[in-house]
Amino acid sequence: MQSSPFESHAPSVQPLLAAISAAGAPDPDLTISQWADQYRVLSRVSAGEPGRWRTSRTPFLREIMDCLSPSSPFSRVVFVKPAQIGGSELLLNMLGYIIHYAPGPAMLVQPTVELAKRFSRQRIASLIENTTVLAERVSDPRERDSGNTILAKEFPGGVLVATGANSSVGLRSMPARYLLMDEVDAYPPSASTGAAGTEEGDPVDLAIRRTGTFANRQIAMVSTPTIAEVSRIEQAYLESDQRKYFVPCPHCGVFQILRWAQIKWPDRVPAEAWYECERCHQRIADHHKPEMLARGQWRSEAPGDGETVGFWLNGLYSPWTTWSQLAKDFLRARKSPERMQTFTNTVLAETFQQAGATKTDASELLRRRQQYRPDTTLPAGVVLITLGADLQADRLELEIIGWGRDEESWSLAYIVLVGDPAQRDLWDSFDQVLSLQFAHPCGREFEIAAACVDSGFHPSIVQSFCSERMRRRVAPKIYPIKGAAGQRPIWPRMHSKSKDNRPLWVIGVDASKEALYARLKITEPGPGFCHFPIGDQYDLAYFEQLTAETCRVRYSKGFAHREWIKKTGVRNEALDARCYAYAALQSLIANRFRLNKQAEQIEAMVAAKSSGEDVERSPSALPGPQRPPPSGREPWVERRDWFAH
Ligand SMILES: [Zn+2]
Repeated sequence: MQSSPFESHAPSVQPLLAAISAAGAPDPDLTISQWADQYRVLSRVSAGEPGRWRTSRTPFLREIMDCLSPSSPFSRVVFVKPAQIGGSELLLNMLGYIIHYAPGPAMLVQPTVELAKRFSRQRIASLIENTTVLAERVSDPRERDSGNTILAKEFPGGVLVATGANSSVGLRSMPARYLLMDEVDAYPPSASTGAAGTEEGDPVDLAIRRTGTFANRQIAMVSTPTIAEVSRIEQAYLESDQRKYFVPCPHCGVFQILRWAQIKWPDRVPAEAWYECERCHQRIADHHKPEMLARGQWRSEAPGDGETVGFWLNGLYSPWTTWSQLAKDFLRARKSPERMQTFTNTVLAETFQQAGATKTDASELLRRRQQYRPDTTLPAGVVLITLGADLQADRLELEIIGWGRDEESWSLAYIVLVGDPAQRDLWDSFDQVLSLQFAHPCGREFEIAAACVDSGFHPSIVQSFCSERMRRRVAPKIYPIKGAAGQRPIWPRMHSKSKDNRPLWVIGVDASKEALYARLKITEPGPGFCHFPIGDQYDLAYFEQLTAETCRVRYSKGFAHREWIKKTGVRNEALDARCYAYAALQSLIANRFRLNKQAEQIEAMVAAKSSGEDVERSPSALPGPQRPPPSGREPWVERRDWFAH
């Protein structure tokens, strides 16, 4: 039985390469776009628009494809693209062209071997099946001795190997004249370790090294960009001649790049969005787009390195979307920094500036403090309260946060309890803080719903305190936690066990710092905005602690990693306490609590109260056990001494 080049790598490819050089056929004049228009057929299953391929449908792809043709003077083509613009189709056209017209050894790299298999099964198989001239050249993998597997296709004069950027074996499997790298921003920083246990290095470099022996090599790099400073595709584009697609205004004829800032809509009516010409300011409608795209021109904006041609395009150019759809997507994305990153990457095709990379200034946060008094009445927007506590050798620092719709937050108190964690006093004081109740304009008293306590210094004491409180079944739900850096969710799917076999929740502090720092940059009240009250404990030192860390990009062996670094000489307990209070919110959300649903119910209660209805008969919307407030007393007033510290 014949083994595939992928499985046994180099040896079985050598005779093939000899056959190629013996054939020595000159490359034909047809470009890839001309080839695709002439031969490529899209299947009903995989394409939105089945039938013959028409480059005129996405005219901006023509020049990119032709730069990948053998007649092109460029050896590397970089395409920075939004999602769903035809980036994969472009690579498939290139593959078809190679198999039919310019055979040679070709390597296709997807982010992982699994994705490479899926791409081969779904896209390459369909390309070959539906395009007659290709089906004639690549035998059916079901036939015996066909020379074909999922990851390797032989054809007269060449072979195509598909592999994943996570597989150093795959990347070193054979020399390649054609290298097609898809979604390079999703590649791991390093390919898997080799047999000798050595670090294999950057998968892009590894793959490019395999093209070194071919003077007429063609390298395609295609990707939706991800994070600023670590994006491979952005880096490659910056080395290129940086082409952008200019299209003419249907009214004044001035050529311009389609930019997000020019999409306008009447307040709250994204369905009526239009594109405003940046020169004549007239409205450009969706139906103008096909003509504009057809007359578009790629224009270079940099000299480049002479070998690399680069193309950048955003989702505004997509023939399959409308201005109003984009406006709606934006309004949805605006609700959270996480969704905004997806929108920035997949629609605007721009890298996302990670929060923390440009830091929020402590004095700016100090100026932003507002006049509200949680010790008398909660802000009406608060619908849930959580607490986060950071344990130090001689004190407990904690923050109580009120949460509202779309995770808008109000800091309610920042309290430092001084005492020895080994002594009962400190925990008695903490117990009283946990029992605080807050008056809400809806007429109810709110309790703290969930709390996270750092178990760092004294894990067994913290765990005993938490489990003892849990046994009493009083609010809040309280969790002993440990913060951990690196890629992990803010709230774990399952708890871990401590050394003495007690439950411990390991929370992802990096994700929570990222969310917090993105939110501190929001300057207007609304989704994600953080409110701080004017008060002694919210001084400059507090905000310096809150902004004590920055996200840096560190380079190790040439790869970029992001990590959080604490500024020297600055404490960061306020930051930790806030991250833990946020984790407490996430613990509830993980247990099917819905903040916005709660907000709707509380808003209804406030409205009912102001219209004079009997609030007590309204169903309780608050999680956790309810206790009546002590009669005739305002519990908060009694405990004002919490603020003395
Ligand atoms: Zn115009």
